[in-house]
Order: sequence, then structure tokens, then C-alpha cells
Amino acid sequence: MSNKYVYLFSEGNAEMRNLLGGKGANLAEMTGLGLPVPQGFTVTTEACTRYYEDGKVIADEIVDQIYEALAKTEEINGKKFGDLENPFLVSVRSGARVSMPGMMDTILNLGLNDVAVKGLAKLTQNERFAYDSYRRFIQMFSDVVMEIDKRKFEDILDEVKASVGAKVDTDLSADDLKVVVEKYKALYLKEMGVEFPQDPKVQLLESVKAVFRSWDNPRANVYRRMNDIPGDWGTAVNVQAMVFGNMGDDSGTGVAFTRNPATGENKLYGEYLFNAQGEDVVAGIRTPNPIADLHKTMPAVYDQFAEIANTLEKHYRDMQDMEFTIERGKLYMLQTRNGKRTAAAALKIAVDLVNEGMLTKEEAVMKVEPKQLDSLLHPQFNADALKKAEVIARGLPASPGAACGKVYFTAEEAVEAAKDGSKVVLVRLETSPEDIEGMYASQGILTARGGMTSHAAVVARGMGTCCVAGCGDIRINEEAKTFEANGKTYKEGDYISIDGSTGNVYGEAVETIDAAVTGDFATLMGWADDIRTLSVRTNADTPRDARQAVKFGAEGIGLCRTEHMFFDEDRIPAMREMIVAKTEEQRRAALNKLLPMQKADFKGIYEAMEGRPVTIRFLDPPLHEFLPHNDEDIAALAKEMGLTFDELKGTVESLHEFNPMLGHRGCRLSVTYPEIAEMQTRAVIEAAIEVKAEKGYDILPEIMIPLVGEVKELKYVKAVVVETAQKVMDEKGVKIDYKVGTMIEIPRAALTADEIATEAEFFSFGTNDLTQMTFGFSRDDAGNFLDDYYAKKIFESDPFARVDQVGVGKLMKMAVKLGRETRPGMKMGICGEHGGDPSTVVFCHNIGLNYVSCSPFRVPIARLAAAQAVVMGK
Ligand code: ADP
Ligand code: MG
Ligand code: MG
Repeated sequence: MSNKYVYLFSEGNAEMRNLLGGKGANLAEMTGLGLPVPQGFTVTTEACTRYYEDGKVIADEIVDQIYEALAKTEEINGKKFGDLENPFLVSVRSGARVSMPGMMDTILNLGLNDVAVKGLAKLTQNERFAYDSYRRFIQMFSDVVMEIDKRKFEDILDEVKASVGAKVDTDLSADDLKVVVEKYKALYLKEMGVEFPQDPKVQLLESVKAVFRSWDNPRANVYRRMNDIPGDWGTAVNVQAMVFGNMGDDSGTGVAFTRNPATGENKLYGEYLFNAQGEDVVAGIRTPNPIADLHKTMPAVYDQFAEIANTLEKHYRDMQDMEFTIERGKLYMLQTRNGKRTAAAALKIAVDLVNEGMLTKEEAVMKVEPKQLDSLLHPQFNADALKKAEVIARGLPASPGAACGKVYFTAEEAVEAAKDGSKVVLVRLETSPEDIEGMYASQGILTARGGMTSHAAVVARGMGTCCVAGCGDIRINEEAKTFEANGKTYKEGDYISIDGSTGNVYGEAVETIDAAVTGDFATLMGWADDIRTLSVRTNADTPRDARQAVKFGAEGIGLCRTEHMFFDEDRIPAMREMIVAKTEEQRRAALNKLLPMQKADFKGIYEAMEGRPVTIRFLDPPLHEFLPHNDEDIAALAKEMGLTFDELKGTVESLHEFNPMLGHRGCRLSVTYPEIAEMQTRAVIEAAIEVKAEKGYDILPEIMIPLVGEVKELKYVKAVVVETAQKVMDEKGVKIDYKVGTMIEIPRAALTADEIATEAEFFSFGTNDLTQMTFGFSRDDAGNFLDDYYAKKIFESDPFARVDQVGVGKLMKMAVKLGRETRPGMKMGICGEHGGDPSTVVFCHNIGLNYVSCSPFRVPIARLAAAQAVVMGK
């Protein structure tokens, strides 16, 4: 038997969402519930996939099934296409598994032709209405299906209006509209070379094809990538009998939610318009009435609608978003779906539904989209204040949150101003690693150049600091310390505000409000914590970040990078001394200067973590990142260090690497200079001993050796660590438990994880490097070509945002298995940026990791995703 590609509404149900799409499955479900739904049929998502497989044609067997369903639908509705008395008209509506903006616009009144329009006029006793519907249908079909520029139709309409002296569309009489229709058809003939199709079957088939094509349009592709929707899902097409909300004042159309989608308040919420069709409500042509008014004007319809809303919410056990139409006093349901809602509403509704006994806690946890929480975790603008503020420029929304502060143009000045207690927005052409401190000191970062993966954007997201990047609307004059935007000049010290969620820049101070996990948010997170088995740690390099993360529920630090600490202005000289040292002695002298600073850092972090485990990664980046690069800075440093310019310049040049990412970095540094590992070990252990003595916290430092690819590398560095740790403990007469583990971030480490595990006491997957090295392209450079990969369907998502489960994930699974064969029960986690990505968290749970670690602001997201992983696994 051939495949079934077409289902009448009466043949489907809500379970068939993958096949019928969300809209189709719910129309079928409502039909099954006995609700008043105009009847029709759904062409399946499989038909869409097949259309692409067959080279963008609809196979004959599918066409046959569509015609068959069409005939049945005519029968069910008791109407006939092209009928002079009572013509059958349908809408053609797209509907994927999940609702997707950017898909094809719905086509209404399909079936209208030169004959049916007369039938419609007779039926409605309104010739004007009939011809207006017809001209709208021609325009819609031509624009959406045939891609004829709609302006050409608008021009015709304007011409006719002008010729009869009509100001607005409604001034046109039926006869005027007949003229418009004739002109439209003539235009169609000219553009397409054929007459406007009079056969409803042809109209329908072309429309179905257009829906299928729209699955692959650029807007839809971008949306899918951002929302992890696979390209092979396809979209379904719904063909539904038309009902008319525009048949007079006893007709109307509207949309409503069973609860308030902005706040979650449990009260019917929505709007409707009398004598209107389709998108009129949302199009904003006339101001709609609040749904409560319907209670006054059509009490019986209102009551019926309220009851249906209640039925649907109970049935779906979730807040519903519904579309309805009233035709001559009779109510029809056109759509229902789980309503989109703000994060705050999502939390309130989930908690309320549990309290109302409608959901279990496990189900409630599934009702909140983890990524959505992001909007609640960053400072927000006061909504009233924001309304009054003027946007002076727009850039890319690179890192969410709201920031308000005084403008500073260099990292140093930003740091100074912040020390004096000012709130600061750092404004730069673009940022570089030397700006880290200034970025930290700022409420927000605004750059004129760079994209979503620029240094500013990546670092800001990691820090949870608001960032607007690539804002070409501002012109920065670095020398004068001013920028120009919207015809005005802003100086150092002037207030601006930036919105990292929209990319908007405001030329004034706008009040912000801090985030906190309280109320319904806290309640739901508590449930998530009870359910999840995966621990959630944070990536934090400073006590401030560590404290923030603990507030957000972090159970430890999974990655404390030690290099950021050395970019500090008062430290980088000692660091540079260490790097350019010619002898071990000189190097040790410089390291001795760094030791107390590093120890103080670790103490600060241990204290902030109050006894929670802390994984400290030893020095990782290529050393040249710390060195000055232009002659001026080299000269200054040479003077400071008592070297000649040429000497220092020579050293800097000798440290140049062609591929620093694949160069002298990670554990390779400690292999060359074991004294670096010695200093860092001493700092880790002494700090733990001191914090234990001073605060009573039992600290369990986990020393993590980066970039290991061969067990002997790890063995060598570990021996230095163990020896030093023993020495420190002997000196102090105190014993501290500590662990030495490694990152799995080089494919060879994953491949030989059984060997590596003979030395490593824990693994942490460094998925940023693991991704770079598995694919063989760097995160910093991939931005330049990944867009082509998305456009050409080679990649569907950014492998640096979401772990590539097929390739990189296979290495991870292998390493987990091999590692635990050597060391049963071995602790394993992930510390790449991926650790806060919900789909990656679920993957980590499934492959048996013990924890994920992510930036502080993603900790609640990871907690929720980890709980969802448990529920999904049941
Ligand atoms: P979207 O997904 O953009 O909401 P819809 O397919 O739901 O698109 O339709 C757009 C508008 O057209 C909605 O207001 C809907 O209620 C209306 N509409 C769709 N089908 C019909 C129909 N058969 N009769 C009357 N109005 C319809
Ligand atoms: Mg639409
Ligand atoms: Mg809709």
C-alpha cells in the first residue's frame, strides 16, 4: 500500500504532531473533542520531505490524495468549488512541528474565481465584500505563491482610487473593485505569461508547493539554526474551509490566551475585532477590543468561548493560545497551541499548574525553556524608564542584559573610574585580551566593530556582562575621546545605556534593576534540583564571579583559569619578566613575585566558594599573549626591565608562533618550564592551608593540567605537582587532600583516555579546544566561513555553541568509557562554553558525566536542563 500523505482533520490527533505539524495535529484534536472547527485536511510533513527528495515536485500519488481529500472536504462542508449559490472556499496554512515565524503567510479565500465571486456575492448579499475578497486573494496568491512584487498591485489599487477620487480602500464601490480585479488579472497575465488560474485545484496545488518552498527560505533557515530545529522535519500544510468574520457586525475574529502570556496571571486574555478577517487583529489597522468586552456584546458566544478555553487548557494541561472567528453569531475555533510566554510568565504558570493539581513537578520542570531563563538572570531596564528613552544607535545583541554608565574609551580609564565608584560603559572600536580588566570593571561593553563571535562578544558572554557589538552607527574618535551618534557627540564621562538583548544604544541614563532567583523562579529551581542527578559547577576566575555563581546555585568551580589573573596591570610586569627570562634563576625570581598574588587570588576564590570543590587549571595560553606588541610598549617594558630595546624586541620576536593555538601552550609550558607548575602548585596548596586555618573550610583543590595529549606529558607535570605539594605540606606540617586531573581537549587524549586515566584522577572535557581540534578550524576564524556552511546546509548549528554530538560527542563517549575502564567511577565533567547549552547538558547527562560547568549566568539554565534530562530519560 502506498504511504498516506493526507489526513482529514477527523483522522488525526494531537499525538501526530510530527506528521501533521503542530497546527494540523491540534485542529484534528479539537475536531476529536467535538469543538466547532471548520473542517479540512492536512498534507503531512513527510509529503514536504518527499517533495524535496523528489527534486521539488509533488509526486502524483500525493496529488491524487490531495484531490481525494478535497472532494471529501467539499462533501463534509456541503459546499462546492466554483458554485454560484454557495461556493466552497478554503485557507491554506503552513504548520511545522513547532511554530516557526518566517514561514509562508496564510492564504485565505482560495477557490475564488470569476464564477465563485458571484456566488459569494449572492451568499453574503454583499457584492462589494465579494469583489474585495477576490482582489485580495489575487494579490495574496500572486505575491506569496508566485512572488510577483506586491507593490505592483498596490500601485494599481492607488491608481483606481485616484481615478474615482477615493481616499481610503473602503471608499471603493463594488464596481470599482471589479475594475481592480480586471487590472490585477491583466497584471498577472503580463507577469506570468498565463491567465490567473481559475481552477481551484491548480490554485491549491501551487499554494501547497509554495508552503513547501517556504520551509527552505532564508528566514526560516536562520530561525531553525537559532532554535536547534533540524532541516529534515519539513512542514505540513493545512487546507481548511473558510469561515467569515467579516460578514457584518454579528461576525468577528480574535486571538486569546487562557492566561496572561506576559505575567502568567490566570485570566482569559486577548483581543477581537468585529467585522474582520484573518490577520486584521494583529495587523493593527483598527484597534481591537479586549476579550472581556465580548462578554457584553455577545454573552452567549463569550460563555461558549470561555468554556472551550477552559476545556482546552485542561485537555492540554498548559496555557493555550487560540484563534477564533465568529460568523454571523456562530463561534469557530481556528487554532490552539501551547502559548508562547515570557520567562516570568512561564515560571508562574508552571508553578500555578502544579498548585492547581494539573501538573506534577516533573512535568512543570519541562514547561520552562532553559534558554529563556537567560532574560531573568541579567540586569534589566526599568520598563517605564526605557519607554521614555531614545535609541541613538543599534548594534548586534552580543551578550544579554542592560547596562547604564559613564562612557570610557580605554580599559585603563574604565578601571580607574570604576575604582572611584562610577558605573562604566566601555566603548571601543573592538576589544582585545589586554582589555579584560576594563571589561570586568564595566557594566557593559559597546564596540563599533566585530560580530557575534568577536572578542568582545565571546568574553562578555562568558562574564555575563552586557555587550552590544559591531555598532556601525557610532563613530568613535579615540584621540578626542568622543563618539558620534544620531548627530550628537558623546564625551568621556557622559551617560549612555545599552541593551545587550536588543542591541539598542541610548544616549542617556536609563534605570536598571538587578536579577535575583526568588519567588516562582526559586520554587521551580528547587524542584529542578530535587530531580537532577548531574551536578552544576561554574567557570569562574574571580571571587566576584564565584560569589555570583553561588547565588545562582553553583556547586563548585569546574574551571578556574589562572591566566586572566596575570593580565592585571600590577601583575603583567612580573609575568613579562618571567616570560623573557633568559635563565631559570631569572624565571624563578619573577615567579616568586607572582606567587603571593596568585595565592591571594586562590584564597579569595576558596573563600567565595565556602568549601565547595574548586578545579584550578594551570597556565594555558601561548606566552606571547602577555607580551607587548608595538614598539612603544616594548621600549617602555625594556626600560622597566633594564634591557635594551633590541634585546627585548628579539625575545618578543623569538616567541612568535605561526599557529599559537597549536603551539607552545598548556602543559607544554610546564614541560619546558616546570618552575611554573611548581609556583602554581605552591599557590594552590598554601592558599588551601591558610583558608582552612583562617575560615575553617575544608578545601579540596583539583589541579587540572591542560592540553594533555600523551600520558607521559601528564605524568611528568603531575610528578612536579605532587613533589611540590608534598614539600609545601611538609613545610607547613598540614595535610591537604587534593587531586590532579586533566582536560580532555586534544583528540589524542580522548583516543588514549585509558592510558591517560592511569595518571589523571579526573577528566574535564574542554570542548572548545576539542571542537577546534576535531574539526581542524579555530573558533576565532570559523566565524568567517560558518555562515556559508549554514547557507549550504553543511552545518545546521554552531559547533562552538552546541556540542557536535556525532563527532566530538563520539570522542567524549569513548573517553568516558576508556577512562572508567582504567579508573572505575572516575569523576568527569565538562568545562567548555558548551556546558551551559541546554542540549549539551542533556547530552552530558546521557553519557554519564558527573557535572557540567558553565559561566555563572548560565548556572540556573544548566540546573534546569539537567533536570529535564532526567525527565526525558524516563
Ligand atoms: P499564523 O500561523 O501566521 O497565525 P494562520 O494559518 O493561523 O497563520 O492564519 C492567519 C490568520 O488567518 C489567522 O488570523 C487565522 O485565524 C485566519 N484563518 C486561517 N484559516 C482560516 C479559515 N479557514 N477561516 C477564517 N480565517 C482563517
Ligand atoms: Mg503566518
Ligand atoms: Mg495562527
